[in-house]
Amino acid sequence: MATTTSIDAPNPYHVAQHEIGRACEALRLDPAVYRLLSRPMRFVEVAIPVRMDDGRTEVFVGYRSQHNDALGPTKGGIRFHPSVTPDEVKALSMWMTLKCALLELPFGGGKGGVVCDPKRLSPRELEGLSRGYIQALAQVMGEEKDIPAPDVYTNQQVMAWIADEFSQIRQQNAFAIVTGKPLVIGGSKGRNEATARGAVTVVREAARVIDLDIRHATAVIQGYGNAGSVAHRLLYELGVRVVAVSDSSGGIYNPEGLDPRAVAEHKRATGSVTGFPGAQVISNEDLLELPCDILLPAALENQITAGNAPRIRARLIGELANGPTTPEAHRILVERGVLVLPDILANAGGVTVSYFEWVQNLTHYYWSEEEINQRLEQRMVGAFRRVWEAARQLGTADLRLAAYAVAVRRVAEAMEVRGWIHRTGASFRA
Ligand code: NAD
Repeated sequence: MATTTSIDAPNPYHVAQHEIGRACEALRLDPAVYRLLSRPMRFVEVAIPVRMDDGRTEVFVGYRSQHNDALGPTKGGIRFHPSVTPDEVKALSMWMTLKCALLELPFGGGKGGVVCDPKRLSPRELEGLSRGYIQALAQVMGEEKDIPAPDVYTNQQVMAWIADEFSQIRQQNAFAIVTGKPLVIGGSKGRNEATARGAVTVVREAARVIDLDIRHATAVIQGYGNAGSVAHRLLYELGVRVVAVSDSSGGIYNPEGLDPRAVAEHKRATGSVTGFPGAQVISNEDLLELPCDILLPAALENQITAGNAPRIRARLIGELANGPTTPEAHRILVERGVLVLPDILANAGGVTVSYFEWVQNLTHYYWSEEEINQRLEQRMVGAFRRVWEAARQLGTADLRLAAYAVAVRRVAEAMEVRGWIHRTGASFRA
């Protein structure tokens, strides 16, 4: 079992193992539960040949990690990024298992990745890579086996190519194989906004319990993609003043607040938030340490470390990104009284609406955006309350531990009733 001694490891797989170990200890579970949950049940590596525009064949390396399917088929995004590693993909799949369990979705956790720089691929090359990925993995994927979705640098178009390629392999339309699709081929209303909407919902709930008046709060967002840019707009609509945002090129800061539509338009026109008129330039590092009430890391892992955690000035952190806070940084933040909404809770809105998309595909009956948003709201508020209650029962201010305890408990119970483990020995009922 992972020790509970604090670590500040930048390897996300070790971080995920460490957190699961802490929850297993808090629940006093049979060690077999940790042994099963500390590694994926299946991990596949594939070589994907792609014909490049200049006639060469480039071979890309792809991964799929299927962590645990005790609660249902595995589910999780595909990341296209130059720094994708097997350990990162494994960690992300573990977080998916816990996220789905926490939200009470009938899914296990999976995740995929391809080592590539999508910004340097032409649309035709990107299509070849997306189709090649699902071809290489088709045997282990399917609407009742493993269902991918978008993640960093993959989008609706990539999901459409995957749906089409898988349908061709099956010789029939199989849209439920993937979520995050365009609306016209079975995508769900509200999916694009879901991750940010879910995060903003739990931030609002958390603000209420710590007596932070959201209408007069300030916020800082790191990362301006699907998650970060939509969170900016939704916070703005709640009356929050978002004073700084950033992307991979750097950050912008205006203590008077940044208008989300103007910043999004600037990014669309120039490719980055940097250079936005009327704002000061700020680095991604300095941005995290700005005075604000709410900090939303919405980019990559390991952004808040033991190095900068003592200087973070936010009262509330909502982890839109997966694994943005190292365990040591988290320990420092909890000790300092900062309320951290952990990733498996804060960014679970995306997979929740992916679940709605899958249900709609399987039943061929489509819901209105209002219905989607209402059901998402209910799920997120329910999950927040389960975590808050578990923290109370465990006597901790550490919401990550509480969230992991709720999620691990549910997966352990499923493994027990399925006969994978003899007795979980759980001493806590969330
Ligand atoms: P995206 O590709 O749409 O955007 C990523 C953003 O991060 C871009 O603006 C990019 O410029 C920025 N970025 C990259 N490196 C950076 C750096 N070093 N510093 C600052 N910014 C940097 O991706 P996304 O879908 O918005 O995902 C962002 C995070 O949210 C990831 O951790 C992802 O796993 C997580 N997440 C996303 C979803 C979803 O539905 N999109 C769901 C759950 C979790």
